[in-house]
Amino acid sequence: MNTHNHNFSEFVVDLPREVDREVAGDIEKESVFVSPFIERIHVSQDGRSARVVVRPGADLEETREKTNRFLGVMVRQITGFEIKVFVDTKRKDTGPYYAGVNDELVKRGWMHDYGKGQVAYSGPVLKLAKLINDKSGELYSSAFAAKEAHFPAMIDADTLHKCGYFDSHPNAVTFVGNVIEDFDAIEEFRRANSCSEGALMPQQDHIHIDGMCLNPAACFPCYPTLAGQSFDEGQCYTWLGRVFRYESRNINGLDRLYEFNVRELVFVGDEDFVRSVRAKALPVVEQLASFFDIDCQVQTATDPFFATVSAAKKFWQASQEVKNEIKIPALGNDGSVKQRACGSINLHGNFFGKRFGFTCKNGEPAQTGCVGLGIERWVLAAFTQHGFDEMRWPEAVRNVIFT
Ligand code: ATP
Ligand code: ZN
Ligand code: MG
Repeated sequence: MNTHNHNFSEFVVDLPREVDREVAGDIEKESVFVSPFIERIHVSQDGRSARVVVRPGADLEETREKTNRFLGVMVRQITGFEIKVFVDTKRKDTGPYYAGVNDELVKRGWMHDYGKGQVAYSGPVLKLAKLINDKSGELYSSAFAAKEAHFPAMIDADTLHKCGYFDSHPNAVTFVGNVIEDFDAIEEFRRANSCSEGALMPQQDHIHIDGMCLNPAACFPCYPTLAGQSFDEGQCYTWLGRVFRYESRNINGLDRLYEFNVRELVFVGDEDFVRSVRAKALPVVEQLASFFDIDCQVQTATDPFFATVSAAKKFWQASQEVKNEIKIPALGNDGSVKQRACGSINLHGNFFGKRFGFTCKNGEPAQTGCVGLGIERWVLAAFTQHGFDEMRWPEAVRNVIFT
């Protein structure tokens, strides 16, 4: 994983069609999952070609062929759906956006970055994370009478499979491995590590993966608990979920973590109910954004699905307008303003109701929807927009986090 290795080679390929910045961004982000020998793929500014950075030892023929197959499926994405904006809040703070928040938080000792997509935090960062979580929880309970819940951080593969996760995001899954229940294998593992300098993993055939996974989307663990219930009246649940996504080399401070926290709201009922909750969620987001005094938009969006199914699934999502995203402007590494997804508002139709067997009024499979707020991204957004001068923060927030 040495990115300063000068033995990298490169080649350029023409894209099968010219792509816009949105598809270009998806190609670049997903390129870390194409081949162990491909460091990254960069799309040219004009959207017509791609530069492939290859690691030493690659079979160039094979790497080219894989690249072409990947690009072939990625360029099928149809974009240019009209983006509808439902919420557009403007902050009162007139100071500039702050670049380099992650580094500054580490420098101040408020955050520790373990380097693999995990962070520890304390002081104002912890207080802010808690405040975002508490405030959204309160808003959900007053607006929707949402019941507080709690779910485990691990989830079994059958549940994930039922949720369709392996079909849409197979690259992001994390399986839990254990040493096999074998006296000799366990002893071998123990002995190897008792005198080694670094950790030594058990040999491959001494690890078994029985289908326990780390949960990759906050709402999934709730659906098995709804099985067999009927929701004549709609019901909302809310909790703080611990979420894990294998983002490979795309990890980047609070922006893109392997392990993060999501304040989740799930709503269950008939179609009218879930649509009304989704509509009522918009002013709630607005209230949250104005409480933290941040520029924020809610707009139509699509999921970053795995390459081979991306075009079809994105098309379906965009045409049905089932995903809205909470976008908060931030500064990219080059100082330009980019929209960061800090939450999503989703309708699932009766997908989970059917798969997990829970119903609404007339015995039909219930419909569901969810709102997930990425706590760490809200923290990053707030520090980006108010910086480190306490007086720029809204009083109600400042009084909690800087004391
Ligand atoms: P992205 O396109 O940035 O990968 P996503 O579409 O995968 O986001 P969702 O599946 O909608 O994100 O997840 C809900 C929220 O969780 C996101 O809006 C974001 O705030 C947060 N989130 C998602 N992935 C990460 C991550 N790797 N690190 C931190 N927060 C994340
Ligand atoms: Zn969800
Ligand atoms: Mg993602």
